[in-house]
Amino acid sequence: MKRKTFVKSILGLTAMASLGSFKYFTDNLSEEDTIMPVLFIGHGSPMNAIEDNEFSQGWKRVASTIPKPKAILMISAHWETKGTLVTAMEKPKTIHDFGGFPQALFDVEYPAPGSLWLAEETKKTIQSISIGMDQSWGFDHGNWSILKNIYPDATIPVIQLSLDYMQGPEYHYNLAKELQSLRKKGVLIIGSGNMVHNFQYLQLKGDFNVHFGHDWAIEANETFKKLISENDYKSLINYCNYNKSLQLSAPTPEHYLPLLYSIALRNENEPISFFNDALLAGSFSMTSVKIG
Ligand code: ZN
Repeated sequence: MKRKTFVKSILGLTAMASLGSFKYFTDNLSEEDTIMPVLFIGHGSPMNAIEDNEFSQGWKRVASTIPKPKAILMISAHWETKGTLVTAMEKPKTIHDFGGFPQALFDVEYPAPGSLWLAEETKKTIQSISIGMDQSWGFDHGNWSILKNIYPDATIPVIQLSLDYMQGPEYHYNLAKELQSLRKKGVLIIGSGNMVHNFQYLQLKGDFNVHFGHDWAIEANETFKKLISENDYKSLINYCNYNKSLQLSAPTPEHYLPLLYSIALRNENEPISFFNDALLAGSFSMTSVKIG
């Protein structure tokens, strides 16, 4: 018998306990039964952290459809390490890992607590390798530029999982699969990068956020959406050999790999939707994914 059914069946038998306490118990169980969605977010310019624009609004809109997480696990393009690490400190610092932006962006702090519980839980959950406990990183802008918009109170505990730069796409995809059980524990997993991200072909038409994509970038954006919708994970893992437009999208892997973490967590027949579907500055996409 499922635990929840069992609890409901004994509800009528135990006259001693108050209905209020049973309600609390069953509410908690229903939280455990809920499987949290997974996001991949195209983070784009760090300025999205402090601008009220179509992208930050899109993030907020989608976050408002998600139950409040118990904790957040973020995989950001901006934390690459040798080996795979998780942040394991109680008060992670806000890292301003960029240059040439207004002082207002350097003034941003995101004081959410860390979570030793989630760091330990992640280490326990991943069996294939030994996850390292990091005491020196914190929250980079791939993380806080998003969370400052969607959870401005900064009360939900957050940890980051690093990208091992020694490893290929298949390693990252398989590692992500091991995180599945965290979704049932109220953990919101977010991959933060950009599917199309190539500075070599950057072409500004005014502001960075003006919609414009080179032909190859438009083709890549459509191809990524098709492959993701069809759950063609083999092609997504082998993106380097798929076609020229996908190769141009990720000349370096770090902004692409967080997508693999997110799609690896999709269960069979789980709904998937796209938002912030836009190409910017010729060679960047903001296209983001909600799974679940
Ligand atoms: Zn970035």
